[in-house]
Amino acid sequence: MPSSSISSAQRPLRFIIIGAGLSGIMAAIKLEAAGHRDITIFEKATKPGGTWRDNTYPGIACDIPSHFYSYSFAPNPNWSKRYAPGAEIQSYIEDVAQRFGVRKRIRFGEEIKRCEFVDGRWRVETKLGSWDSADVIIAATGITHHPNIPVIPGIDSFTGATFHSARWNHSVPLDGQRIGVIGTGSSSVQIVSALAERAAKLTLFQRTAQWIMPQENAAYTEADRAQFRNDPNSMQSLRAMLAKRFTESFSNALVDANSPQLKVIETACIANLEQQVTDPVLRERLRPPYRVACKRLVVSPDFYRAIQRPNAALVTEGIERIEPTGVRTRDGQLHELDVLVLATGFKTDRFMRPIDVVGRDGVRLESAWAVRPRAYKTVATPGFPNFFMLNGPNCPAGNYPLIEVAELQMQYIVQLVEPLRAAQYREISPTEMSTARFDAERIEATKKTVWVTGCNSWYMDTDGVPAVWPWPIEKFYADMAAPNFRDYECVA
Ligand code: NAP
Repeated sequence: MPSSSISSAQRPLRFIIIGAGLSGIMAAIKLEAAGHRDITIFEKATKPGGTWRDNTYPGIACDIPSHFYSYSFAPNPNWSKRYAPGAEIQSYIEDVAQRFGVRKRIRFGEEIKRCEFVDGRWRVETKLGSWDSADVIIAATGITHHPNIPVIPGIDSFTGATFHSARWNHSVPLDGQRIGVIGTGSSSVQIVSALAERAAKLTLFQRTAQWIMPQENAAYTEADRAQFRNDPNSMQSLRAMLAKRFTESFSNALVDANSPQLKVIETACIANLEQQVTDPVLRERLRPPYRVACKRLVVSPDFYRAIQRPNAALVTEGIERIEPTGVRTRDGQLHELDVLVLATGFKTDRFMRPIDVVGRDGVRLESAWAVRPRAYKTVATPGFPNFFMLNGPNCPAGNYPLIEVAELQMQYIVQLVEPLRAAQYREISPTEMSTARFDAERIEATKKTVWVTGCNSWYMDTDGVPAVWPWPIEKFYADMAAPNFRDYECVA
């Protein structure tokens, strides 16, 4: 915080948080802990939970250990497994929202369509036509939020059931059905593993093979859970140990393509493929033509087992079109299906769009981000004062728990807004210069990462540059420890 002349007069700030997912709920809790009282969350759905509310597909679980994938201030002794199922994570989020008094702050079913910065304040309009205003907006709208629906000829002609993995239609029967899954990312691998034994036939349409990191998912016993309840400090120690191990052996390995840690991951994934897939032809079709962890690494204890079942088929021919009864591949074969799952990922560069965000001097976010989403140190964009993002552009997405990432960003934002509360400044936004410098350094740093070693993935921006945090995670902790106000344009 700037040391000079902070007024003793405090100006109570009104906050609007967009989204009641993991990060929006945490933002409200952190703001309240910092002494702010006027906080409203706008949530377009009827429940909190964000991506964990939206993703209910069979087999869903978090592939980051749950004692690390939880809020630092709300450890949960009751996780059933090392990698908890999605429904448990959703219950945890709802429970935290209730226990910390956040629920009463959430306006459910209210989708914001426009935010405009007028006379030093944000005016917000919802789709229902209501208006509100705030001094500060925190966009906590998530990354894996907007489903990517593939453009495949004939997709609307399919007469069976079809839906995206994040919009699972639970009224559709699955047992004994002919199920097709398009895509081979983390969602698909969990779905295939869960459904192969239930389907009459399961067909996986693979455009690009994935490396698979083997990882067993041990259950916590009742004695383990009792021990966590009786000694909450043991959860903190476990979390610290998991964070250290995750950082050293995984996250930091990805940003240095030549690191010995990455070699260890590579060896484990290659051995997994060699040892688990017995048919040499299938093994080669499952072998990715790029380095391990170039795409977001998929973690699974049982995918190879599932895809080798007699009722499972891996299709590597490209999809020609979708017909009323199934998927026609380029070799002319028709794969007849009852259910077609689109596990085709997300439009991860949308962030809070399609909200029409209009900043200073009428500049629209859509045009400020016309080339690609930009943010200074992942949290703010020049020209959009007092507008901050959680899990925004360039954050350590995909290889570090976003729940922890958002907590770190919030610690930074809470400090950023202090001069606003102290009535020292009315507007804070990053300078164009600091943002350009950050972007140039970031792009330079991506050259060392494994993500540029020859694959395509959702990490890439439209120029083929990885859009995620390219430095060791310790730098993110350091950068989020405190803002440097010299990099901000502060208007009194
Ligand atoms: P994803 O990793 O982006 O995978 C999408 C898949 O769909 C890819 O295999 C892609 O093929 C394929 N695809 C897309 N369009 C296609 C088309 N037109 N024709 C054929 N194939 C097409 O998506 P996701 O699996 O939903 O995962 C997204 C992210 O969510 C993950 O990377 C992860 O960060 C997060 N996630 C986390 C967990 C967890 O356990 N923590 C679980 C699920 C998801 P190409 O590879 O050829 O592009």
